[in-house]
Amino acid sequence: MNETLDNRLILLGTKGGPAVRPNSSMPTSNLLFLDHEKILIDAGLGVTKRLVDTGFDLRTLSTIFITHLHSDHILELGPLIHTAWVSGLKSPINVYGPSGLIHYWKNFLKSMATDIKNRISNEDRVPLENIINIHVLSNLPLLIGNIRVLSLKVPHPPMQDCYAFKFEGTKTIVFSGDTHFFPPLGEFAKNSDVLIHEAILTDYIDTLVKKTGLGKKLKYHLLRAHTPVEQVKKIAAMANCKTLVLNHLIPNDDPAYDQNFWLKKISNGWAGKVLVGYDGLEITF
Ligand SMILES: [Zn+2]
Repeated sequence: MNETLDNRLILLGTKGGPAVRPNSSMPTSNLLFLDHEKILIDAGLGVTKRLVDTGFDLRTLSTIFITHLHSDHILELGPLIHTAWVSGLKSPINVYGPSGLIHYWKNFLKSMATDIKNRISNEDRVPLENIINIHVLSNLPLLIGNIRVLSLKVPHPPMQDCYAFKFEGTKTIVFSGDTHFFPPLGEFAKNSDVLIHEAILTDYIDTLVKKTGLGKKLKYHLLRAHTPVEQVKKIAAMANCKTLVLNHLIPNDDPAYDQNFWLKKISNGWAGKVLVGYDGLEITF
């Protein structure tokens, strides 16, 4: 597949949660093309293969944003960067996210030290650590080319550092990150072109907890850390976004809760344009 730089968003992985089961989608990652910049948001399991399958040349990977350090958003960050490097990447990658990213990256390098050292001395590769820049997020806006990037801390307990991101260029694209119902997101995403928001079906939580074989603690976590789909509508209405995209779906592997089910659920009370995310969904704007 040929890659173009036209403005668009590709949902690479749309699953909420880290487990992978038959029929499930893959954990979170998104590829945003905006004003000739290519930006990856999150790097859950499967991101490398999904990126390559879109036609993405890994040697051109340059900008990554990480919303938070839950494994379904970061598990494949190190392997992705390493694979880009062994695919011939020589130019810098800038990774933006919570402060714990520094610890993650240092320890990934340590865990792969034998391989990395070997490839530098025997294959003449540039030292991997020299081309990766980790940036800890602050409240200040960032500039990626002509795009202004703003972050908003969202409540996703027990995680302390979880962010929504707003990419402001010729279009405005907002990602909620993982969050409990959080009205300030409505203001943050005001008049955005696309709002990508996580969603959970609270009626399904008991079934999910049974499936995992875990107990009350998981139920408690899911209830306090995510946004019920009924409340996503409220955020979308406050934001007055042009398109709402449901993402990080819980559940995501039960045929009874398919696209139509989610669509019906969200359309009842939200009259705007809405898309239910699935792996590979491409949204042009
Ligand atoms: Zn999370």
